[in-house]
Amino acid sequence: YATYTGSDPRKVPAVLLTIAFVEEAFGAWHVEGGLGGLATTLESRVKDLGVDLRLNSSVANILLKGTVAVGVQLEDGSEHYSDVVVANADADLIYNKLLPKVKKTSRARKALKKATPSLSGFSLLLGLSGKSDLGHHTVLFPENYDAEFDQIFKEKQPVSDPAIYICNPNDSKMIKDQFSENWFVLVNAPRHEPDLGFDWRKPGIKEGYANHIIDLMEKRGLEVRSRLKVMEIRTPADLEMNVLAPGGSIYGTSSNGMRSAFLRAKNRSPIKNLYCVGGSAHPGGGLPLVGISAEIVATAVEE
Ligand SMILES: Cc1cc2nc3c(=O)[nH]c(=O)nc-3n(C[C@H](O)[C@H](O)[C@H](O)COP(=O)(O)OP(=O)(O)OC[C@H]3O[C@@H](n4cnc5c(N)ncnc54)[C@H](O)[C@@H]3O)c2cc1C
Repeated sequence: YATYTGSDPRKVPAVLLTIAFVEEAFGAWHVEGGLGGLATTLESRVKDLGVDLRLNSSVANILLKGTVAVGVQLEDGSEHYSDVVVANADADLIYNKLLPKVKKTSRARKALKKATPSLSGFSLLLGLSGKSDLGHHTVLFPENYDAEFDQIFKEKQPVSDPAIYICNPNDSKMIKDQFSENWFVLVNAPRHEPDLGFDWRKPGIKEGYANHIIDLMEKRGLEVRSRLKVMEIRTPADLEMNVLAPGGSIYGTSSNGMRSAFLRAKNRSPIKNLYCVGGSAHPGGGLPLVGISAEIVATAVEE
């Protein structure tokens, strides 16, 4: 359960075990048609409320007047002024790239520097012919689960024998036809850190590791290669490039250590009228917490 927040299970506060209770007691929800439906539904809801959405517009800077946030400047140079700025980018980018390095943010920057970034993920999207008897969720646990987190956090290497999560959606809207399956396969992975750790962009690395994961699944009795029609590979470097999560740390900062919760970016930033929301802000990563983060920010903005 600790890995749901990108953390090392040996180092997190025991409170994360409440996730096990919540799953057992209340079950888990599935968004029909896949998780993307959440984004499109939200889009139509905010459009109904009159929100003017500008997609594919990168923010280059958060504009300040003294120590008050007054708007944003986009990559194309245009400036947009507002009463408040709610930043959903990774907190590391907010404090170290989008904002000027003013004295008011020095504590927030120091806290982020002390925090351990979350682990990343390596995933395979597999289109397979024929049917198997796999359920919606399957986890193939390795013999030595400790070794997984030593390889990720200490050695910063792809895990040789990782826990493998497979989602075989039991949802007709998510499969090509009744004669096929599509599996989402996810393993924990070290961040993309070409200088200090592992470089996921080295030629041949992602194909070699994808093959290794398929070998491990086949050894556990799953038929993959003979059924494989399509395969897409997503590495931590892809995550960094596509969703701008530094190093592909998809859960922001990890929950490793007793103080981790206090090192995370606060929802009310030290800059007046600037709020931080999302996985790298309080209370942390994973969709349920990101939703809570949004609720806290919405209330704070209204106050
Ligand atoms: C493979 C994978 C599996 C996962 N599985 C689960 C799961 O089963 N359950 C779960 O709860 N969570 C899961 N997560 C984690 C979950 O997806 C994240 O915690 C959550 O998406 C974080 O939300 P966010 O809004 O903080 O960041 P994001 O969803 O990354 O959104 C941030 C957005 O900000 C944009 N952005 C960044 N900088 C700028 C800028 N300068 N200008 C404009 N836009 C910018 C990015 O493009 C991005 O669209 C998974 C993540 C991955 C990658």
